[in-house]
Order: sequence, then C-alpha cells, then structure tokens
Amino acid sequence: MKILVLNAGSSSQKSCLYDLDYDNNLPSLPPPPLWEGKVDWSHHQGVAEIEVETARGDKFTEEIATDSQSEVMSRLLDTICEGSTKVINKLADIDVVGHRVVHGGRKYRESTVINQSVKDAIAHLAKLAPAHNPANLAGIEAVENILGDIKQVAVFDTAFHSNIPDKAAIYPGPFEWTQQDIIRYGFHGIGHQYCSQRAADILGKDLMSLRLISCHLGNGCSLAAIKNARSVDTTMGFTPLEGLMMGSRSGSVDPGILIYLLQQDNYTVEQLDNILNKASGLKGISGISSDMRQIKAAISQGNYRAQLAFDIYVHRLRSNIGSMLGSLAGLDALIFTAGIGENSPEIRQAACEAFEFLGIKIDTDKNIHKPIDEDISTSDSAVKVLVIHTQENWQIARECYELIAHQV
Ligand code: ADP
Repeated sequence: MKILVLNAGSSSQKSCLYDLDYDNNLPSLPPPPLWEGKVDWSHHQGVAEIEVETARGDKFTEEIATDSQSEVMSRLLDTICEGSTKVINKLADIDVVGHRVVHGGRKYRESTVINQSVKDAIAHLAKLAPAHNPANLAGIEAVENILGDIKQVAVFDTAFHSNIPDKAAIYPGPFEWTQQDIIRYGFHGIGHQYCSQRAADILGKDLMSLRLISCHLGNGCSLAAIKNARSVDTTMGFTPLEGLMMGSRSGSVDPGILIYLLQQDNYTVEQLDNILNKASGLKGISGISSDMRQIKAAISQGNYRAQLAFDIYVHRLRSNIGSMLGSLAGLDALIFTAGIGENSPEIRQAACEAFEFLGIKIDTDKNIHKPIDEDISTSDSAVKVLVIHTQENWQIARECYELIAHQV
C-alpha cells in the first residue's frame, strides 16, 4: 500500500511516501520512506523552498515564487513520479493520503476517512486552532485538486487524548463551559502515541501494562500521562498555549494577569494573543531567542536572562512532571522526545534530578552520548528513562494502513 503523508503547518510542510506490504505485519521500527519532501515558506515572503530526497539518496531543490499552496503542492508531488527523484510511475499509484490535522474537537476521537462533513468540521474547528487547521484543510483541498477523488484520512493530534477522564478534562469554571466545548483537548497526540508504543517495544513490555510520562519538548512543549495505552492527562488544554513554558509561548500563567492587562493597560485581545504566543517563553524571558541552542550559547557567556529562561523552563518541566505523576499514581518510564527532549542532555539531567528521591537515576554517560531510542537510566533506577526519536509521519502512515487495510 502506497501511503503519502502530509504534515502541513502554517509556514512549512513535511511530506513522505511509504510503501507498505499488505501481507506483512507492520514493522515496529519505521521503514525509510521511499520519498521525502519539505516545503518552507518561512525564509522569504512569497517564496516556497522545496527540498526532496529519496531512499536512494537522490536530491532535488527548487525555489518557487508563489503563495499558492496548491501550485507548490503540485510541483512537489510531480517530483514523486518525474525527474531524478522519481520513485513511482504515476501519482494514481498512491492508495491513500494521510493528513495530520491538529484539532478534531469532541467529535473526532479516531482517525477518519475524509468526506465533506469531515472537511466542514475541520474548517469549523479553525476557531480553536487558527494557526493550524486552515493549513491542514488547504493541504487536503490541494490533494483533491491534484489527485481527484483519492482516499484521504485525517489523523487528529487531539484524538489520543480524547479519553481523558472528565475530572482532568473539565476546567473548574462554570459548568456551562463544558456545553460550549471549552474543555481540555490536548495536542501532540500523534507524537505521544508513537512514543508510547515505541517505549513498550524498547522495554519489551505490553503497552497496556505501562504507566508512562511522555515529555514532548520541541518549539511547542507538552507532557502526556499514559495508562492502558491512552492519554489520561496532558498539560496542553483547550488550546496549545496551556502548560509548560515553550519556545515563544508562555504556557500557563495566572489568568488574573490577562484581566489586569486588559483593564489597567488597555491591551487589545490581538496584543495579548501575540504576547502569549509569540513573545513569551524562552524568547520572552531571554530576549535572545526561542531556540534552546542559542539560550545555552548565551548561558555559556554568562547571560543572566538566558540562565533565568533555562531555570524557569526546568522548574516548570519538573512541576508539570510532578502533576502527571499525581494523575498516574505511579510511573514505569519517563520519555524524552522532540528537538529539546532528544538533543539536550542538560534538560534531561535537570528534569530527572528532582525525582531522585523516587529512585529515578540516569546514567550520565548514556545521557550525554546522543542516545536515540535508548534507555538512559541506570540498572538500579526505579523508573526507566527513555530518549525516543519522534516519528509523527510514520504514526500517521500506520493509522492510515490500519484504517484502510481493515476496509479492504
Ligand atoms: P517543532 O516543535 O517545531 O517540531 P523541534 O522538535 O524541531 O520543533 O524542536 C525545536 C527545538 O529543539 C528548538 O528549541 C531547538 O533549539 C531544540 N534543539 C534542537 N537541537 C538541539 C540541541 N542539539 N540542543 C538543544 N536543543 C536543541
């Protein structure tokens, strides 16, 4: 089965093509995709940079001066069946296209074959995920324009969290909020789900028997408490703004601060939105960057605000891990994943140090030697500590495979 995966963001898009054999069980480790394509709009306004690479190692790059996602997508998909990066004869050989869709609301609790009503729902939910759902929908429509009525599947970032119990999902505001769909949805679910399954594989245990905390620490950051193979609590909430300190997002702050700024300083809603999403977090505190690598570089030069940003980041990470521990009432493994989780031994060390009293111990040597899909805890640690390379696109392909294979 040939599965094209599209992971469309507001300023970039990652795609890959997998060829999975119907007759075999899915491998637990992702196979290399036949073809991978990236589009980046973030460097020059109105210019899309396309980068393509195949499993054979053939590469192709191009810049196209356009804002049209459909035009860029058409060019990108041409590289699958034309030129040096050709891996299949024609686009019609693709069986299914899987899309990461950030918000599925209350209705979409599982991956779903896309039809008009699913598209309407994704459009409707754009008010809850304005930076993401419109880009996801544009990707779906661009594929429709190019590939006609090919089967498309929406894989929702909220779905893995859809069984969170009411006591963790409902905010202690007025009960009417729940009727307005103001509840905790949680995000990064595709990544958290992949990491939980991969953790079970690495540990050689049944996922149903494990209590896990997955720490997704990238530009956006969230934790998920996982039990019985489902998320039972998570730090992001109604929007991806709640919870941990992030690259440029504040994470949780006292809502009274917002009332104060609105009343006393006449801030507009747009200004608050911009501050909380774009001018807070590592960037807001350090005044340097939202990028952890630059924060670390500034710390090594003695920069006070960079150190403060790092310290707040670690403090909030520890206190939120504590909160997830409370929700799980125990822990078998702590997982670090995404850009910071996978690449920053300092953050992993600092996060774990606070829980030494629970018997969590990491092996310093393993921690600093670029672990990938590895247990970095000591043999006598009471809890395993895993570093897992996130593979969201593979998780999306797997969801498509399982959904479609069962229908054939
Ligand atoms: P996204 O959430 O956009 O997918 P990533 O998962 O790529 O983001 O994570 C981006 C973050 O990872 C940035 O803060 C970046 O500094 C951090 N990062 C990447 N490599 C390293 C590294 N070697 N050390 C520390 N942080 C790193």
